[in-house]
Amino acid sequence: MTDHTRRDASRVGGGLLLAADPQPHALQGVFALLLAMGIVLRTVGGESFVLSTTSSIGLAVVVTLLASALAALLPWDRLPVWASALLPLLDIAAVGLLTVDDPTASSSVFIVLPAFWLGRLLGRTGAAVTLVAGLVLVGLPSLSEVGLTPTNLAAATLVPLVAAWASLAIASNFEQVRVQQEETEHHSAELSAALEVIEHQRRVSDAILDSVDVGLVLLDREGAYQAVNRRHRDFMRLAYPDGHAGRAGQLGHVFGPDGVSMLTRAQMPTVRALEGEEFDDCRIWVGEDPLTSRALSVSARAVRDDRGSFAGAALAYNDVTDFMRALRVKDDFISSVSHELRTPLTSIRGYSDLLLDRDDLPADAVRQLAVVIRNAERLQRLVVDLLHSAQIDMGPIQVDRVRSDLALIVGEAVAAAAPAATATHIDLSYTGPERLVVMVDQDRIRQVVDNLVSNAIKYTPPNGRVDVRLQVDGSRVELVVADTGIGIDAADRDRLFTRFWRSRHAEEQSIQGVGLGLSITKSIVESHGGRIEVDSEVGRGSTFRVRVPVDGRG
Ligand code: ADP
Repeated sequence: MTDHTRRDASRVGGGLLLAADPQPHALQGVFALLLAMGIVLRTVGGESFVLSTTSSIGLAVVVTLLASALAALLPWDRLPVWASALLPLLDIAAVGLLTVDDPTASSSVFIVLPAFWLGRLLGRTGAAVTLVAGLVLVGLPSLSEVGLTPTNLAAATLVPLVAAWASLAIASNFEQVRVQQEETEHHSAELSAALEVIEHQRRVSDAILDSVDVGLVLLDREGAYQAVNRRHRDFMRLAYPDGHAGRAGQLGHVFGPDGVSMLTRAQMPTVRALEGEEFDDCRIWVGEDPLTSRALSVSARAVRDDRGSFAGAALAYNDVTDFMRALRVKDDFISSVSHELRTPLTSIRGYSDLLLDRDDLPADAVRQLAVVIRNAERLQRLVVDLLHSAQIDMGPIQVDRVRSDLALIVGEAVAAAAPAATATHIDLSYTGPERLVVMVDQDRIRQVVDNLVSNAIKYTPPNGRVDVRLQVDGSRVELVVADTGIGIDAADRDRLFTRFWRSRHAEEQSIQGVGLGLSITKSIVESHGGRIEVDSEVGRGSTFRVRVPVDGRG
């Protein structure tokens, strides 16, 4: 029996009769006791009767004793349930004997116990059996004994009727309990089936999560780790050899992209994700030992509930160690080669300039020397770009902000580009304030302006126009470089700032370049806390917009 039905049983009335498994000997014992008490009370009440096996009371005692003996001796647990109905029937017979000479006697109330018992055992049939047994064993004998008066008739029929009604009441109560029990069992079967399905799905998703080669973490809105897959547990062992408390933001052997500077709490990907930030490719290193440490590229997405409120975050940690190590080797190679190229190039430039200063050179030698100088300059620019691009991978470019007149910087850059524009009949114009003092790194910002203006000239066919504008927009300064050139395909705009990317058009037309300028430009602008955007239409031109904060704080 379930707890639920047990509670129902005790609500109905509790006690022996309503117990989960009524014991015949216990019930019979109660009945015998009640009967004995009835006889004693009748004696005490002054009634005199002969207690012999020939008197009706004596017979009632005999029948009760017989029933009690059967209740005690028969193996009820091995007999069918209905067999024990014999005992309440004998009890009804005993009540009949007890009241045979007076159907109105109070002893007739004893019939209620066997009536309950029958209702409990046989349900609605028990009520019918009670009615028939009451009429046959209690009503009829008393009527034949004391005669058919209206009072006797009423008592002889009412007692079985009341008993049958009591039996019916208990039968329907137990029927209700049984139905409830069945419903409960049905619900609990459904529940365990659903739990089984959920448990199976959990095992399947755990297996899937554990099989992927990406570390996965799910945080709740308070920052507690809800789920961590096997791959991420490996990373956590490297980052936290002394253990992890299961909450976001714990400091450990977690370093920035340079692999050296330890992340502060605010820089930890988990803490950023908890602030609701969503990001991709946040590079970190985990582990203290350079031989075993791993480089991870982290992405984070917010998890939202049905109402769209922040409910936590999911983070994915991709192992990019091999890629980062290869990148480092490549950058080391590029910077050492660039450094090696720098010295001979400086010397080529220097001696070419010296040669050019001589008055005794024939005209064609001057022309050839100019070609040497132009190409040496190109090589020098390339070397500088290569060195910068190698730096970008080591982390954000270091900028040295000082108060600078941006109007002067832009004006000088435009003036320096004027000969190249004139050579291809491009109308180059500059509009901006006389003076605009901002906090920037002068050399880096000059590089930005040079790159954008030289690109605009390079990618604009002869007789086109390049307009450079400088203006203040709130707390930001805006530099606009607009051209009427070849334009950039919408599909290419995402790749524009990727290193070594060049448009097919630029390649086909053999326009000089290696695809480093814009990636360096973007990095410098972002290091100033600024942004760079582009609007473009193929064949009509492009407009690059750079916005940086006036005070140098992004
Ligand atoms: P480079 O000019 O050396 O190729 P950049 O990084 O400066 O390298 O530019 C990358 C590519 O973007 C160029 O190859 C070109 O295809 C495209 N691009 C840059 N600026 C412009 C522009 N103003 N108009 C059209 N295309 C441009």
